[in-house]
Amino acid sequence: MSTHYDLISIGAGSGGLSAAERASEYGMKTAVIENKKLGGTCVNVGCVPKKVMWFASGVAETIHNASGYGFDVDLKGFSWEKLVDAREGYIKGILDWYGNYLTDSNITHLQGTGCFIDAHTLEVDGQRYTADHIVIAPGGYPIMPDIPGAEHMLDSDGFFALKTQPKRVAVIGAGYIAVELAGLLNGLGSEVSLLLRKDHFLSSFDVMLRETLMEEMINAGVNIMPRVSVERVDKMDDGSLTIHCANGVTLENYDALICAIGRAPNIDPLNLDAAGVECDERGYIPTDEFQQTNVKGIYAVGDVTGQAQLTPVAIAAARRLSDRLFNNMPDRKLDYSNIPTVMFSHPPIGTIGLTEDEARKLHGEAVKIYQSSFTAMYHALCPESQRTAMKLVCVGAEEKVVGCHIIGMGADEMLQGFGVAIKMGATKKDFDNCVAIHPTSSEELVTMR
Ligand code: FAD
Ligand code: NDP
Repeated sequence: MSTHYDLISIGAGSGGLSAAERASEYGMKTAVIENKKLGGTCVNVGCVPKKVMWFASGVAETIHNASGYGFDVDLKGFSWEKLVDAREGYIKGILDWYGNYLTDSNITHLQGTGCFIDAHTLEVDGQRYTADHIVIAPGGYPIMPDIPGAEHMLDSDGFFALKTQPKRVAVIGAGYIAVELAGLLNGLGSEVSLLLRKDHFLSSFDVMLRETLMEEMINAGVNIMPRVSVERVDKMDDGSLTIHCANGVTLENYDALICAIGRAPNIDPLNLDAAGVECDERGYIPTDEFQQTNVKGIYAVGDVTGQAQLTPVAIAAARRLSDRLFNNMPDRKLDYSNIPTVMFSHPPIGTIGLTEDEARKLHGEAVKIYQSSFTAMYHALCPESQRTAMKLVCVGAEEKVVGCHIIGMGADEMLQGFGVAIKMGATKKDFDNCVAIHPTSSEELVTMR
């Protein structure tokens, strides 16, 4: 005998939980299947623990800068162990809250790995469950290179499991995770090498952002090594790691090597064939604009779709899906254009819309760029200066703002409001019509000439 639901989510991360929550708000009978922890990547090994570490690194930065403001403060010590305990305590609070929330919302929590038996039937631990609507939201896992000694590397999950601070650490990768982890480790006092296979990192970001960040990270002490391709890792008798690179370079005496070269979709256990659900050659599940897969009644949301792999994207797509299915909103769907995103680097980046290069390719001569680079007032008094840079990418005679790129202190909190304006189709004139808030860095965005 199987139990029947209106909706079952496979995966209780950002996407799966949100689909079930919203459906249950409409009175539907729902369940989530989870084989690890409620909350998924974001809460357990992603955004949340990362942001705690980023804040901690920011505290170290503030202590360092305090002398500029007349404070006689010494950094007398830092306990990685205390920080990790506090972080995990915070996460436990979120998980406890989730557990109670699911009970209160009448969402069944099925612990175990879910797989398809057919298009309407799932199996978890030998038990069968049927549903009218099935949401595939299993997220992804970190990719590791197939090289000798890869077992000595840590992925981002392994980084969060570290009980002691790595004193000398190398990070491989050029995306969000590599840049964020390298930055926060450096801020917390580790000696960090960031190994890039190309000349630069963050390829998809506006060139002004990545060049400014690279300069700032180098100034802050990160050893950025371009054109390094790791071929082998040896663990030495003293426990240290030796990293052998393609160009004959050997890096010695590292006590951790973190690999962050992208993530792959978590589809293997799902038995998608049994339901006839198709995926692409990389394992991502394509959907139409309504999150519908090729099989009626089966949807995919979040990282497994391969689109903008961000928590709020998974949540927004999932909530809109349940609105459409259960609240008579036939056109409800997520618009994937102009999604704002923040890199929690030092300094942080906030970015939305087209980069300058993308805009020029699309709109040629119709593109007009406004940009500004300055030392924010806060840093003017600090022992070491830090650059803030901003760029507005505008198009056409009306100068519609199609891209907004900010790097500098506060960029992480600055972007959301400007994102609303850009999503509404704001022009440069609309920006300038908003009176500046003084003295702030963000006032630059409404006064650029
Ligand atoms: P997930 O949150 O990964 O949830 C999927 C869940 O499904 C997991 O719990 C998994 O265990 C479970 N599962 C998988 N297969 C099965 C199965 N067969 N049966 C049962 N359960 C299964 N995004 C941001 O917006 N901001 C950030 O600052 C940010 N920082 C990040 C930092 C790191 C280090 C990482 C790795 C990611 C970060 N992200 C960030 C990305 C964000 O975490 C993901 O985009 C988001 O979690 C995707 O949600 P999801 O629901 O698709 O998948
Ligand atoms: P990304 O896809 O962001 O970046 C991985 C990069 O690593 C590639 O773009 C590539 O850059 C480089 N790379 C790939 N293969 C190799 C290799 N073999 N050796 C060396 N470098 C390699 O992946 P991440 O793992 O950093 O993050 C996954 C996703 O998680 C992100 O895309 C993002 O959506 C999400 N995330 C979001 C965060 C946020 O919102 N703040 C924070 C963290 C993650 P290149 O080709 O230039 O060498």
